[in-house]
Amino acid sequence: TSAQIGVTGLAVMGRNLARNFARNGYTVAVHNRTVARTRELVERFGDEGDFVAAETAEEFVAALERPRRLVIMVKAGDPTDAVIKEFAPLLEPGDMIIDGGNAHFADTRRRERELREQGIHFVGTGISGGEEGALHGPSIMPGGSKESYASLGPMLEKISAKSKDGAPCVTHVGPDGAGHFVKMVHNGIEYADMQLIGEAYQLLRDVAGYSPAQIADIFRTWNTGRLDSYLIEITAEVLSHVDEATGKPFVDVVTDQAEQKGTGRWTVQIALDLGVPVSGIAEAVFARSLSGHAALREASRHLAGPRPSTLSEQEAAAFADRVEQALYASKIVSYTQGFHEIAAGSEEYGWDIDQGAVAAIWRAGCIIRAAFLDRIRAAYDGRPDLPSLLSDETFAREIAAAQDDWREVLATAVRHGVPTPGFAAALSYYDGLRAPRLPAALTQGQRDFFGAHTYRRVDREGAFHTLWGGDRSEVQA
Ligand code: NDP
Repeated sequence: TSAQIGVTGLAVMGRNLARNFARNGYTVAVHNRTVARTRELVERFGDEGDFVAAETAEEFVAALERPRRLVIMVKAGDPTDAVIKEFAPLLEPGDMIIDGGNAHFADTRRRERELREQGIHFVGTGISGGEEGALHGPSIMPGGSKESYASLGPMLEKISAKSKDGAPCVTHVGPDGAGHFVKMVHNGIEYADMQLIGEAYQLLRDVAGYSPAQIADIFRTWNTGRLDSYLIEITAEVLSHVDEATGKPFVDVVTDQAEQKGTGRWTVQIALDLGVPVSGIAEAVFARSLSGHAALREASRHLAGPRPSTLSEQEAAAFADRVEQALYASKIVSYTQGFHEIAAGSEEYGWDIDQGAVAAIWRAGCIIRAAFLDRIRAAYDGRPDLPSLLSDETFAREIAAAQDDWREVLATAVRHGVPTPGFAAALSYYDGLRAPRLPAALTQGQRDFFGAHTYRRVDREGAFHTLWGGDRSEVQA
């Protein structure tokens, strides 16, 4: 038998991806460093389709039809390089190595370059949807060469999630590291979405005085409207869950220190390098980091806050509606920032990424899947060179309609001492973009004063410097 595809690395993700291929009628070669995992897969799920269990790298490679398609699903980082080193010598020109792990796109660029010399296509591929997605249909973001996509695309389309209109949630994102870059930004947006939802929850709890169960109901209602999304849906599930041992709301027995694996941090680090303001995503990463500083939080508990108060029942209901507006407006800003980073990365690395296509493949299968993404796709399809999502008339109109409530929610949060870094960063970004004049002019003056860094004038071409230490006359630099 020769397998159309092989998967090495059979932990949760690899195993489910292999099963997904097999369930879709492909013959799948399976391999794992620890052989027990390979045996377990075939024993438990062998009846789901055609698997070829390979115990050695040689057996694995020999089981694959040519050109070979070899998917790596191992722990990202050094293990990926180790596995490439093991398999690359066994491969031939035209073969494809597909890395489905959460690799940093810079590593993917390096690996692609190295393997290209050997004539091997390295396809760095972002895969989102967790273990369930891997099994039932993830959103797939492949990079790599156009040729590799011609061979691989149809298979990926088959195993991917399908959006409501039936379109497969996979597209050739762009060359080399483009796929992993887009997956990174996807995760950054995911961080921002989760933070904004967290802030909405905290406000409904601490300001409006609702219980977790009541807030779950509010989120369920929101999920029937424009906020309809997987993350809102699971938020309602988590909030309505009751801890069996104590009978308390589950959310009250979980330690409030958020962890992270790194893709959110990467999104911000790369944005800094590219000069893209992703303040909402950055605040989401920082909020997780702040939550984790237990000693600092303990030591700061004596810091004074405002006098505690909660809203009346009637005020609370109106407030909840306002929070929905604030959440939606802030969400538009997060996506605006994320898509800006994709545009900047595409420009920097010459990827020519189709933003509308990216929005389209995030409509199903991935963690940030949402009805909203269909509208982003429409915005970019309508105008592919859209400078910013906020330049889209529909989104601009929606934010305009939400802004009074958005401002009111933030003012209330500040008065009540509830931290809302995500909402605040989003609103500041919005106000920053629409401001006719920014204090950046003053910044330029200060820079010229202490460092003779020069400035440009609004009324004349050229760079200028004021002789601050002398007679303060202006000279052309
Ligand atoms: P893990 O990240 O826990 O990785 C475990 C797998 O890596 C095992 O198969 C292990 O083999 C193998 N491995 C580790 N080191 C080596 C090595 N040096 N040489 C060979 N194999 C090695 O598994 P997951 O299934 O959680 O994730 C797989 C990849 O998918 C990761 O890159 C992850 O970031 C990414 N991903 C995960 C998602 C998720 O929801 N979990 C979602 C999207 C992407 P052994 O059995 O021999 O130890």
